[in-house]
Amino acid sequence: MNLIDTLKEARKNKWSLGQFNFSTADQLQGIAMAAKEMNTPVICGTSEGESSFFGIEEAVAMVRAIEKKEKTKLFLNFYHGKDVNILKKAVDSGYDMVHFDGSGLPIDENIELTKEVVFYARRKNVLVEGELGQILGSSAMHLKGPKQSTLTSIEKVVKFVEQTGVDGVALDVGNVHGIYEEMPSLRLDRVSELLSFVECFVALHGGSGVSREDIKNAILKGVVKININTELRCAWRKSLEQALEKEGEVAPYKILFPAKEAVKEKVKEKINIFKSCPK
Ligand SMILES: [Zn+2]
Repeated sequence: MNLIDTLKEARKNKWSLGQFNFSTADQLQGIAMAAKEMNTPVICGTSEGESSFFGIEEAVAMVRAIEKKEKTKLFLNFYHGKDVNILKKAVDSGYDMVHFDGSGLPIDENIELTKEVVFYARRKNVLVEGELGQILGSSAMHLKGPKQSTLTSIEKVVKFVEQTGVDGVALDVGNVHGIYEEMPSLRLDRVSELLSFVECFVALHGGSGVSREDIKNAILKGVVKININTELRCAWRKSLEQALEKEGEVAPYKILFPAKEAVKEKVKEKINIFKSCPK
């Protein structure tokens, strides 16, 4: 199944695809192993920073190589792209989806640029996720906060979806990127409200640190894509720190093996939650 059909099937059967970000090969291998063991497709994601580190063509090549070898479906999304030209490159290189983040722009400019990305991506059957209303924070551990955005009116989001023709939207429901001492309460009623006006997929950003209950509620309201990054980064780092404590070990494959396993376990834990809603 292609990505749009998979997202539609998820909506119908009340589960959510996970988007798991990576910037190193061992992280990507961990994500793929989890997808294989859980027998489910996943979306692998790279942000601007992650793809400039890993390489756009390299990300596509490695995702396709692992997918073929492991016989498991891996989709690839360019996450929070703010540069239209980089997104066009991702489309040409073989990404399955690109997320244009024009949320920091005036709405008219955001609509114009999103339309340009949609027009370009359509020709290659690449999906586009748009964003209106900024989702604040960054994929890291934070102690204080969160800074919540003022929620964009659903009317504006409907207009944005209709005028741009995006396949999906990163809806702000009071969510933030990263993990905070106190996680914000989510306005998940906004998801069903939006879906009562337009047909599109709804993505939940900043899924790290969100409670199991909120995740399930989000899925029941119609969310079909949940992004996880910070929790994977934390699991990766913790395990790497432990491995580096072993004095004298210099073989990268020995040092990184536990980190790969840690990412795999974290992804499996998330997939379990994303697929556990009552049908
Ligand atoms: Zn995001």
